[in-house]
Order: sequence, then C-alpha cells, then structure tokens
Amino acid sequence: MDYKKYISVVEDFPLEGIRFKDITTLMQDGEVYAKAVDDIAEYAKDRNIDVIVGPEARGFIVGCPVAYKLGLGFVPVRKDGKLPREVVKVSYGLEYGKDVLTIHKDAIKPGQRVLITDDLLATGGTIGATIELVEQLGGVVAGIAFMIELTYLDGREKLSGYDIFTLTQY
Ligand code: IMP
Repeated sequence: MDYKKYISVVEDFPLEGIRFKDITTLMQDGEVYAKAVDDIAEYAKDRNIDVIVGPEARGFIVGCPVAYKLGLGFVPVRKDGKLPREVVKVSYGLEYGKDVLTIHKDAIKPGQRVLITDDLLATGGTIGATIELVEQLGGVVAGIAFMIELTYLDGREKLSGYDIFTLTQY
C-alpha cells in the first residue's frame, strides 16, 4: 500500500518551516485505515505482545484498533493531570521547554510484553519518555510501531536497541 498517497503534507503547520504530516486524510478512508491497522497487527502478531500502550492523542488512533484486532488491552499514556488514579510520571525535553507524561501505576504488570504505538516518529522524544514509563512499571518493550517515520530526525538512533516498525518513511 502506498500510504503516502493518503497522508497530507501541510506546509508551515504548526509553525513556519514545518511540513506537518497529517494522518487524518488516511483515517478518512476506511479501507486504507483498516489496512494500516492490519499491517501493524501483523507486525505485532509475531512478537508475543500482552498489552498495547500509546501516548495521547494520536497514539490512541493507532493503538486502539490494533488492540481490538488482536484481542489485547490498551493502556493510555497522558499528559500530567489527566489520569484519575495513581500514576508514575516522566519529564521529557521538547524543542522549547519540558513536558510530563504519565501512566497509571497498575496498568502494566512486571514482565508483560508491550507494543508501543504512535502516529509518527520524529526525534523520538515522546516515545523515549513512553518507554521510560513502561520500564518503570517493569514492562518489556517488545516492539514500537508508527504509521510514519521522519528518517532525517534520527529518532531510530535515539531508540536504538528497540525494535521499530513503520508503514512509511519521509
Ligand atoms: P518526537 O517526540 O520528536 O518523536 O515527535 C513525535 C510526536 O510529535 C508524535 O507524538 C507526533 O504525534 C508529533 N508530531 C511531530 N511531528 C509531526 C507531524 O509532522 N505530524 C504529526 N505529528 C507530529
């Protein structure tokens, strides 16, 4: 499947000079969205996954249908203050400033094999923080799947040692 045909590239969003990759046009096409989910589920099938974890909000768009397809649970990673029960937190660097991601403390059991999902791998900062949360709870990151990889930002190097699957690359 040529996924690039269905992904919109938006110039100067959200800031001048950024070419934003927009998956909403891919999601609008039921057949293409289903194929994207199937391809990621196929990757996950051989990895003995127990649970899927994704950061808000686009990690949910990718991870939840894959979880349903494989009959697995889904665990949300959210910005600080959004999850109602006891959480663990990690602070990570953004281009300007810092942000905090959280996960429910009881969401992953030690030794569980986790697939992490998101729409796009850029620098790897968001997923690096997500990995930290999973590992703090004793989870094993058994794979990471994205719809899109921006290869020129070297996220793969930042996440070296982890198995990464992407549907399409820019
Ligand atoms: P990273 O943390 O630098 O790898 O950035 C990845 C995060 O930023 C993901 O959660 C993406 O949803 C978001 N992101 C960065 N660039 C884009 C883009 O061009 N399109 C959609 N999301 C993006």
